[in-house]
Amino acid sequence: MFNSDNLSVNANNHLTVGCYDTVELAKEFGTPLYVLDEDLMRRNCREYKTALEYHYDGNGLILFASKALCTMYTSKLAADEGLGADAVSGGEIYTLFKAGFPMEKVFFHGNNKTHDEIELAISFGVGHFVVDNKEELELINEIAREKNFVQKILFRIKPGIDAHTHDFIKTGQIDSKFGVALENGEAFKIYEYATTLSNIKVDGVHCHIGSQIFDVEPFCEAASVMMNFIVELQDKLSLKVNILNLGGGFGIEYTSDDDPLTPSEYIGKVAETVKSLAMEKNVELPFLVFEPGRSIVAPAGITLYTVGSIKEIENVRTYVSVDGGMGDNPRYILYGSKYSVVLANNAAAKPVAPVTVAGKCCESGDLIQENILMPEIKVGDTLAVLATGAYNYSMASNYNRNPRPPIVAIRGEEKKIIVKRETYDDIINNDLI
Ligand SMILES: *Cc1c(COP(=O)(O)O)cnc(C)c1O
Repeated sequence: MFNSDNLSVNANNHLTVGCYDTVELAKEFGTPLYVLDEDLMRRNCREYKTALEYHYDGNGLILFASKALCTMYTSKLAADEGLGADAVSGGEIYTLFKAGFPMEKVFFHGNNKTHDEIELAISFGVGHFVVDNKEELELINEIAREKNFVQKILFRIKPGIDAHTHDFIKTGQIDSKFGVALENGEAFKIYEYATTLSNIKVDGVHCHIGSQIFDVEPFCEAASVMMNFIVELQDKLSLKVNILNLGGGFGIEYTSDDDPLTPSEYIGKVAETVKSLAMEKNVELPFLVFEPGRSIVAPAGITLYTVGSIKEIENVRTYVSVDGGMGDNPRYILYGSKYSVVLANNAAAKPVAPVTVAGKCCESGDLIQENILMPEIKVGDTLAVLATGAYNYSMASNYNRNPRPPIVAIRGEEKKIIVKRETYDDIINNDLI
């Protein structure tokens, strides 16, 4: 019935997550409320790890793409599950560090890392930088030299594979703000240059072809393009590339239209491609890295809201307004993202009519979903939006000075607030005068 097997309906017809009644959670903690099913997040981490062990003898590392949900607690959880992390800013690196994350297992991404961020990352002992461009490379070399240190790096490569939709095409990708292109020789040149720098150790290649991808072919295609590049670097520069990092982007089920593969299916096929090319080209098997974010944490999260008003506009549509919106979930206004919405206090009820679920912010585009079939909804009902664990809290804002909701993590029969609800005083905290 639901897109995730941690969700069910109890005898009161209430939606449950793990062993908890969502209507009770909404009552206890207030709404809007993020609920994170820690057991499911951990299970997803393990599925990736197990897949890498099974299909590639564990010769690699799964990184949690922390931007999907970066908090102290989720950082500790990822560390506890033996994952590495990918970070894209000083703030994420700081969070990981403060959470006690093993910093040598952190890969630092981003297309415009600042001087301060580079310095912070080096001083915190971040294991690898994924370098985007020549200016950054020179800056890292300079800062590392001042610290008398050699920084390990990979470069972000545009492999020429566009996988933003279900159909992937092999052109156009050169037009991306991220990384260096293969097809015009830019990537080769920057590797050649990097080998001349005293405080840089070139350790690998990286690509990330997109997000919410359902096919395995684009990943295999990327793996094979990257393996050929590894061979080229070895042949022409005598450079031994240790790490092949293929990024994240594995799709998840937001609605019943989505049909994702399992981690084992993705990793199995990609590992097969890498192994057969390594054999054919006679290169050593690289240490294989993946960076799933969404697929680890999105399905583990739901958001609970309370319905405050219902506006039936005859012959137009019915707006159901909830006590959150683009402040806690900006993905609809950003991308028109699809979500499944459940009437949590009557979860087995049959849908009767289409409604538009709206947020409370001063933007007409502040919607949760448009024209979705829902059972009869009353003021005071609890709505649950599913699969909001990724890119919701991490993208949340205080627009309209709405405080951001808390996150309650549940694990078995345990429940705890891992991020507190913001107060109005939190909101004015940075206003000095
Ligand atoms: C965003 C991002 C990821 C994670 O993508 P998901 O779609 O959440 O799996 C991994 N690597 C890089 C470089 C990214 O930018």
